[in-house]
Amino acid sequence: MVKTHADDLAAAKWTMLHEHLVGRGINDDRVLRAFERVPREQFVPHDQRPYAYDDRALAIGYGQTISQPYMVAWMLQALDVQSEHRVLEVGAGSGYQAALLGELAREVYALELVPELAERAAAVVARLGYETVHIVAGDGSLGHPPGQPYDRIIVAAAAPTMPEPLVEQLAEGGLLLAPVGGRGQQQCLTGVKRGGQLALRPGPGCTFVPLRGQHGWSQRAWPGE
Ligand code: SAH
Repeated sequence: MVKTHADDLAAAKWTMLHEHLVGRGINDDRVLRAFERVPREQFVPHDQRPYAYDDRALAIGYGQTISQPYMVAWMLQALDVQSEHRVLEVGAGSGYQAALLGELAREVYALELVPELAERAAAVVARLGYETVHIVAGDGSLGHPPGQPYDRIIVAAAAPTMPEPLVEQLAEGGLLLAPVGGRGQQQCLTGVKRGGQLALRPGPGCTFVPLRGQHGWSQRAWPGE
């Protein structure tokens, strides 16, 4: 029998789930089920589809990337998203993580600074039927006051410091997770818990694109550009 493209993707998805996620310590059943359900190939450009389940970031245009699956899974597991939660994502990019959040939470607001990416992400999540996921074009470093307070906030781009508006839009007991720092090794996943302390085990080393906008890096300040 001739092997089809769909068979290849299914095999690659199996490898992602079992080797890249479970094999490296992701054990939250709800997170794993979300990864099983959301088709990552639908969120990447056509020429990237054969690589959709590689455990790495992929280019999605406009100089941006869809994050590495293991990193996304690690953050989602650390964030402990519950089905009654209202969640804010800053940096929707392709919309992939927003769709994963749609599987986990009650309502999701996902802000994206690049209008073309926001439009594309909104079209994909709508086509896949994620009615509780709202992709909003705009500067997410300011949060998104209409949806506050948020039980969980996740930032998908590296911020120079923890953006204060995000801390302010957290619900009591809510959690916020963001990569804070510059390029490469200096970045470190940082957690904030409203009204308490959040102890984070050291996360994986990470390389996110810079957070822009009012509380992000200015073009000149991002080291190396
Ligand atoms: N979560 C995404 C990947 C995000 S990459 C996914 O699943 O595909 C980070 C994204 O953050 C990029 O698309 C970038 O344009 C966006 N971004 C950077 N600064 C931002 C800001 N201030 N507000 C909203 N989005 C921002």
